[in-house]
Amino acid sequence: MEKKELLYEGKAKKVFATEDSNLVIVSYKDDATANDGEKKGTIAGKGVINNRMSNFLMQILEKNGVSTHFVEELSDTDTVVKKVSIVPLEVIIRNISAGHFASRYGVPEGIVFDEPTIEFSYKNDDLHDPLLNAYHAIALKLATREEIELIKDMAFKVNDTLKAYFKELGVTLVDFKLEFGKTADGTIVLADEISPDTCRFWDSETGEKLDKDRFRRDMGGVEDAYKEMMRRVFGE
Ligand code: ADP
Ligand code: UDP
Repeated sequence: MEKKELLYEGKAKKVFATEDSNLVIVSYKDDATANDGEKKGTIAGKGVINNRMSNFLMQILEKNGVSTHFVEELSDTDTVVKKVSIVPLEVIIRNISAGHFASRYGVPEGIVFDEPTIEFSYKNDDLHDPLLNAYHAIALKLATREEIELIKDMAFKVNDTLKAYFKELGVTLVDFKLEFGKTADGTIVLADEISPDTCRFWDSETGEKLDKDRFRRDMGGVEDAYKEMMRRVFGE
């Protein structure tokens, strides 16, 4: 399968058409942004790591009953996925307080929740992805009540599966962002990516951050953190 015209270039990935109108090729870049696009940079090797890790995790999720957009890994950076119309919601699951949860509610990072939380943001760069609840999403016709219920169930299932998976690797899954999309026949599938760009990973023993927070917070050791996650998942 070959890349045809560029349909979209985002901050971290490019999306290309293919000869099959139901499939697109996603090409992962090393570019990184943070703080609502204010901070820009590159993370050497990130494209390869995010592509391979995301594909691997999506295949684990498929085995555990979560439908995803994954079709076929073409190369270290390129993957064929089902073309979907993205539900314009960022779905965030949290197991432990961190990031915006900690700053918004004035609590320290690291509080382990009794139950995971879910929140939605309206995926809209001009409005800076404002937080909204299910009623707002329905009012704005971003999704139906039934779709939101399904997305919620799928997101918690992803959390249960990945939390257990990463625990075995000595990694605590703190929080993450998911995106869902609708295929041509209206099926909701997990789309976009699952990677150190979109998840917070803490070493279970030391608490060391192994994700994009090292870039967001200028902590150094960004490439090494991504490489360490690659090593945990693939042993390389
Ligand atoms: P952003 O748009 O936030 O800069 P990216 O650089 O990751 O993000 O660009 C990838 C884009 O492709 C995102 O807008 C994402 O919603 C979209 N996307 C992810 N998976 C699919 C898919 N299966 N079909 C169509 N679009 C997708
Ligand atoms: N996240 C993401 N993209 C976004 C916002 C958040 O992938 O545009 C992920 C982020 O990596 C973290 C989780 O969602 O794992 C929760 O992020 P938070 O709301 O704390 O915001 P952040 O501090 O990351 O901006």
